[in-house]
Amino acid sequence: MQFLGTAGGRHVVARQLRASGGIFLRLEQVHILMDPGPGSLVQCVKAAPRVDPANLDGIVVTHGHIDHANDVNIIIDAMTGGGDRPRGTLFAPRPCYEGNTSVLYHYLRDFLKEIVPLGPRREYAIGNVRFRTSGAHHHSAETYGVIYRTPRVSIGFMVDTVYDPDLLDSYRGAEMLVFYATFHRRADNPSTLHYSVEDAEEAIAVLRPRKAFLTHMGLSVLAAGPDRVAKKLSDKLGVEVIAAQDGMVVGLP
Ligand SMILES: [Zn+2]
Repeated sequence: MQFLGTAGGRHVVARQLRASGGIFLRLEQVHILMDPGPGSLVQCVKAAPRVDPANLDGIVVTHGHIDHANDVNIIIDAMTGGGDRPRGTLFAPRPCYEGNTSVLYHYLRDFLKEIVPLGPRREYAIGNVRFRTSGAHHHSAETYGVIYRTPRVSIGFMVDTVYDPDLLDSYRGAEMLVFYATFHRRADNPSTLHYSVEDAEEAIAVLRPRKAFLTHMGLSVLAAGPDRVAKKLSDKLGVEVIAAQDGMVVGLP
């Protein structure tokens, strides 16, 4: 797993205080790019080790907001050699590619092998990697978290939502959890559409993964010091919590 960006919130993205390229996963030789936000292609090419979009098997867009989907078009173009080599599956909620909320250029559809709609609590596969979606998140676009499963590891991504304890069930049993913790405190979060570190703390205390990561960090998390915030959670909860950094590579078993 490789963090091609850890930015959350419009200010951090707009100023590129952190990159916003999404997360690359290589599971069982299957290559998946999640939430290719602004600069994702650039971050793929600059990454060490380099991520070659031409080798991607799947793109997962959890919802159609600009910080999660801005680069989906150029990534599809790069994945398919400008359409010369149709390949890959796009997984996304329907509003991402249908109607007036679509974020997908129409002509790129034929470049893909398939477009698969994400829905609540459903099972999917990319090659021999299985994943399932969470219940619907509470956000201003149709949004699902994702839990990948291989014989060796399970890893869940708790993406943007209003915090709702009922959603935690979807993530139960995941050995690793990645939290999109955009705000430091709940009180920093006037629209309440995103997780805060306080929400992550509560979720980690309930779910007790082997390892947890914080990403999608907004200004209030950066100001508080992501490493300090993560260490505090680790000490308090007895679970290893790591603040992700741009370019961070995490070995998966
Ligand atoms: Zn969003």
